[in-house]
Amino acid sequence: MTAAFAGIDIGGQSFKAALVDESAAVLATETVATGASTSLASLSAAISDVVRNFSAVAPITALGCGVAGSVTHDGRLHGCPNLPNLCGVGLADTLQEFLGIPVVADNDAHCHAIAEGWTGSAAGVESFLLVTLGSGLGSGLVLDNKVYRGVTGFGCELGHMIIVASGRLCGCGNRGCLEAYVSEMAIRESVRSRGGDLAKRVDSRLAEGALGHAEVLFGLADDNDDDATSVVCELVEMLGIGLASAINVFDVTTIVLGGGIAPGVIRRLPELRRAMDGALFARSEDAVAILPASTGRWAGAVGAARLAIMS
Ligand SMILES: [Zn+2]
Repeated sequence: MTAAFAGIDIGGQSFKAALVDESAAVLATETVATGASTSLASLSAAISDVVRNFSAVAPITALGCGVAGSVTHDGRLHGCPNLPNLCGVGLADTLQEFLGIPVVADNDAHCHAIAEGWTGSAAGVESFLLVTLGSGLGSGLVLDNKVYRGVTGFGCELGHMIIVASGRLCGCGNRGCLEAYVSEMAIRESVRSRGGDLAKRVDSRLAEGALGHAEVLFGLADDNDDDATSVVCELVEMLGIGLASAINVFDVTTIVLGGGIAPGVIRRLPELRRAMDGALFARSEDAVAILPASTGRWAGAVGAARLAIMS
């Protein structure tokens, strides 16, 4: 029987799990609701249930976890605002003891980047930057086929790069972070602060069954709604400046965009490239490849499993 590895992608409300073999075949998947107030004990029990289910498909060699938060090299959660009861816990060590198999943990965007480099849009690309545009802005930087984690493990938090001095308050407590301008949360703030009827138009489309503020806002902008277009253009410009700044620092020429806001941004690629062009050093925007992420909804879990394979 082939060696199989489990990957868990832990978000604020649920976790996704995938059982993967070394050729990247996905053998099984599960989604488990947890809730933001989940404790280490309840999370461990839920993961244990999934591992038991997966073990019926194939024996599990090791487990990888991706978590929405800062994770130290030894798998301890440091900052995870969406999972307050898990802050400070040694996730990898605890799960390893609980499950009796090797466990590694990393930031969720790092895991997504690993997946894109393994089987996704950046397969075969030695150095690239993955940016996930969702409720927040996550990022994973791969340099010479290795995720850059920095000294502590918190490396490459592009979402918390300051792009406006004394700018908008970010969820991290600082002001002017890229995430405060480019994220689902940022869009809500932009719609609210714009005033007028934009919020009503957004609410009415949300009531019709749209998935989120970003999808609604980009849809309104596609339909030439002036206020929505203005909010979208500001977001795209801020993202372009942020990406260009990252390129100026790290000299990567491939950017992969994932997350729920990415499709809207990809539809506005000319504007994004224009914003980048005004901020790039020593090169023009046409030297940079911008690709949509392609590993889909199991990306984080598959990347976490790959992390376990590589460890
Ligand atoms: Zn921040």
